[in-house]
Amino acid sequence: MSDNTAKAREIAKRLLQEGTVAMVLGWEKGDEPYVSAPTVIRDAADAERLVVDEYCIHDLAALLPDYRDRSEKIAIFAKGCDSRGIVRLIQDRVMPRERLYIIGINCPGMKDPNEFFRAASGLSKAKPAEKAAKCLSCQYPNPVVYDEIIGEPQQPQEDKRFAEVDKIESMSADERYDFFIKEFSRCIRCYACRNACVACNCRTCIFDETKPQWVRRSTDPVNNMLYQIVRSMHVAGRCVECGECERACPVGIPLMLFNRKLIKDVDQLFGPYQAGLSLEDDAIPPLSRYRVDDPDEFM
Ligand code: SF4
Ligand code: SF4
Ligand code: SF4
Repeated sequence: MSDNTAKAREIAKRLLQEGTVAMVLGWEKGDEPYVSAPTVIRDAADAERLVVDEYCIHDLAALLPDYRDRSEKIAIFAKGCDSRGIVRLIQDRVMPRERLYIIGINCPGMKDPNEFFRAASGLSKAKPAEKAAKCLSCQYPNPVVYDEIIGEPQQPQEDKRFAEVDKIESMSADERYDFFIKEFSRCIRCYACRNACVACNCRTCIFDETKPQWVRRSTDPVNNMLYQIVRSMHVAGRCVECGECERACPVGIPLMLFNRKLIKDVDQLFGPYQAGLSLEDDAIPPLSRYRVDDPDEFM
């Protein structure tokens, strides 16, 4: 058992025994050695199920909206990216800070179980990488908010996040359109990207509405493009760059290209601003607040 797993179990057990929290959101081993699946622990005896290993890639913060209408206090394990999602949920008033006990994990990077699934099933001949793609450009491996923390502090990766965005920006408008329409034509509208997203936390999602049906469910190029544009704009300035949408996409659409273009634009046009870094009042996303000196050259 790793030190982090032992520490995680000890903390969860203590919090449940002393009644500080009613439940703990963590990870437990799944059917395969490369799966550490999200789990909920309510009994101190079950703390022994918890693990913290190199496969704990799922963002537990994305589960918090399921508990928004309840009152119990929740302990949640949070890597750097997860902690930014928690900040966003608090700012979006989905979950009050007082209802959370955040157990931070200084994160050395995770492996992507999906790559192991594909290799094991023969769907891919590629050897799974030592680190998930999203972790190769991680700027905040250490939690930005926590009540207690485990693991050694980690260094951020070299910031190459916008290299692919720069390439897209150098294309002509027609080339860009062709590029994205080709990528989005592969979308099967499974909504895995939306479901994995901590910024997609509306009670009723526009894509589920049928009266009126704003975006048709057919997977034709126009409706697929509409889906992607609307979702990207909805998370503009709120995306915490956790990379879970792209990782969840079963057909490998490079969703982070779209997200990072908007992260770059929001940062340059309305910032400097990166989502989910602080709970201070002035850290509310620029597109979620009004100021009399907001830029208005476009009007
Ligand atoms: S993105 Fe950063 S914090 Fe998140 S799993 Fe990867 S290395 Fe850890
Ligand atoms: S849009 Fe993707 S990267 Fe951004 S918060 Fe949602 S899941 Fe994470
Ligand atoms: S996860 Fe991929 S295929 Fe599914 S809706 Fe999102 S972009 Fe489309």
